[in-house]
Amino acid sequence: MSEYYIKQIFELNKGKNKKAKINTFGCQMNAHDSEKLSDMILKMGYEITNDNDADLVLFNTCCVRENPEDKLFGNLGYFKNKKKNNPDLKIILCGCMMQQKHIIDKLRSSYNFVDVVFGTFNFHKLPELLYNNIMSNSQIIDIWDEAKEFEENFSLTRKFPFKASVNIIYGCNNFCSYCIVPYVRGRERSRNFNDIVDEVKYLVDDGVKEIMLLGQNVNSYGLDLKNGENFAKLLKEINKIDGLERIRFMTSHPKDLSDELIFTMRDCRKICHHLHLPVQSGSNRILKLMNRKYTREYYLKLVEKIKKNIPDIALTTDIIVGFPQETNEDFEDTLSLVKEVAFDNAFTFIYSKRERTKAAKMPEQIPSEIVKERFEKLLDVLNNIVGKKNERYLGSTQKILVEEYDNNKLTGRNENNILVHFNGKKNLLGNLVDVKIINCKPFYLVAERI
Ligand code: SF4
Repeated sequence: MSEYYIKQIFELNKGKNKKAKINTFGCQMNAHDSEKLSDMILKMGYEITNDNDADLVLFNTCCVRENPEDKLFGNLGYFKNKKKNNPDLKIILCGCMMQQKHIIDKLRSSYNFVDVVFGTFNFHKLPELLYNNIMSNSQIIDIWDEAKEFEENFSLTRKFPFKASVNIIYGCNNFCSYCIVPYVRGRERSRNFNDIVDEVKYLVDDGVKEIMLLGQNVNSYGLDLKNGENFAKLLKEINKIDGLERIRFMTSHPKDLSDELIFTMRDCRKICHHLHLPVQSGSNRILKLMNRKYTREYYLKLVEKIKKNIPDIALTTDIIVGFPQETNEDFEDTLSLVKEVAFDNAFTFIYSKRERTKAAKMPEQIPSEIVKERFEKLLDVLNNIVGKKNERYLGSTQKILVEEYDNNKLTGRNENNILVHFNGKKNLLGNLVDVKIINCKPFYLVAERI
């Protein structure tokens, strides 16, 4: 049905040289959704631009942290003014933030200049909703509470021709006490095994060398299918695809990471030796309050098992600082865990209160000066560790998938997902090349071609 509305809008836009700007906040899942939205927008006759003087502006929002909310409403003020000069400008909002009632109430009452609003479960409806807005000249808000349809036939416009993301599971069942995702993305829904494998084959035939398998928790892939499929089996099948060079995935919940998965990572040549394993805290008390369902000891044992089976693994993580009731002692536990694991990198976050979550109602929210102090301390410890760990690459040969070119400078990533810069020609874009590491910086490596 989307095709019908796409065609209608294409006819309306014909010969008008219309431009669209897409703004994406948040995680890789959102970035991947934006590739699908972008494809629909292109087919409707818009050219994608970075320019704010566009005829259509779309915000694919995130609500994991508070910051994007301020950013979005700030942007809306700016585009409200633009609309005064260009009444045909279409402002479209979608993504996680739109699944929150207080946001929709605010948009309905004070932002009637926003044209179309939809959520995470119905973004395939964009053409229909936009068409209805154009025809009725009124605000269209369509939010679903759950996934009613599994939309499989998406095409997308990829940012890179040689690498692509593939969703394998949507939603999350875990209800970590600080996280809004299960409320806005719904319960876990695994995609059909063969559909995923076919999609990867199609992408490889289309020139893709590296695949990123995406899910809020890829480790629980298949549990809801109840047919014996699981994530390790899926990886083994994808590993067999001729022409595919690299397989990456994220995110992995530590409690669901099986031995079978560790052995699969060890045994399948194409699976990159990088694992993003969010720990969030090193304190058992805080982990319990976070409802993470594992202990510090479990996590450390898991890391030990992973390192024993895959000695060259790069481990990265997420850490939250300033969770309600976090004492200095709890924070010291986090620091000691960070030192013990010696992560290759970490995304560090200051705890941000999200409405509707259990943590938002917890007593003893930590004062911001204390949180900032702890955050700085954590960054110091991490930078030190990451810098030292990178030194192990000095003099080694690394295989790099070249992703970017700028003025004879190439940038890509090694198998461990570390950024590497070296000199070279544009024709190497999208190729896997061997380089020798000649300099190690805390967050990237410098290399020369062999
Ligand atoms: S596992 Fe926890 S942090 Fe991750 S999406 Fe689910 S609820 Fe949120």
